Amino acid sequence: MSDVLLETRGLTREFGAIRAVDDVSFQLKRGELLALIGPNGAGKSTCFNMLMGQLKPTRGRVLLAGEDITGLKPRAIWRKGVGRTFQITATYQSMTVIENVQVALMSHHGEIFRVLPYATRRHRDEALALLETVGMADQAERHCAVLAYGDLKRMELAIALAHDPMLLLMDEPTAGMAPRERIALMQLTADIVAEQGVSVLFTEHDMDVVFAHSHRIMVLNRGALIAEGTAAEIRANPLVQEVYLGG
Ligand code: ADP
Ligand code: MG
Repeated sequence: MSDVLLETRGLTREFGAIRAVDDVSFQLKRGELLALIGPNGAGKSTCFNMLMGQLKPTRGRVLLAGEDITGLKPRAIWRKGVGRTFQITATYQSMTVIENVQVALMSHHGEIFRVLPYATRRHRDEALALLETVGMADQAERHCAVLAYGDLKRMELAIALAHDPMLLLMDEPTAGMAPRERIALMQLTADIVAEQGVSVLFTEHDMDVVFAHSHRIMVLNRGALIAEGTAAEIRANPLVQEVYLGG
């Protein structure tokens, strides 16, 4: 089994005259926590949307565990083991934390969610174990509507993990969070990568968080990858300092 889980080859996306993603080729290894950074408008979200099947590439390929998944629909890619953290709106606000995870587990097992009392009896132990993984077992019975933002984000992570993904795509998972919460969420993500063997590709604005928690960092500028390496290498890269860190 190859240690490369995700690979892009010449991935390109144009919007009219704008080349949002320009000939991007990279590899993500199994068990890797890989950061994609770059200024606003660099093309990070466009990249993610192509990896998730939300956008079709203009050119280039996406390979998952050696299989060409270019242009597949989001649901097909999700079924192949590519999870993502969802927006808050994807959760059921009126339900409890554990019920939301139970519904995700039902979906993972191909069960149809119709009525709440039924859902609340399914997969309780598994749901509780997932909530323990994200440090939210003590809030299992709380309603989502009253959760702090950081806790909702952790619940989203449990929901994503309910689908037992090989790869998690997280586009700005800490957006809107306070610095302390950002660090906590990324620490949690790093622990999950280490303990569960899930691979993660994420974007993040906070450089302290990126440098502290990624195994490797890729830098995108105007759609093109301009650097790739460890935190120390990226910090020392003059091109990165010039275009991104403003140093
Ligand atoms: P980032 O996530 O790094 O901030 P984006 O991928 O959102 O960057 O955007 C990259 C470029 O592509 C920007 O110039 C943006 O305006 C443009 N872009 C993104 N999505 C669209 C779209 N649907 N239509 C036209 N232009 C788009
Ligand atoms: Mg973006």
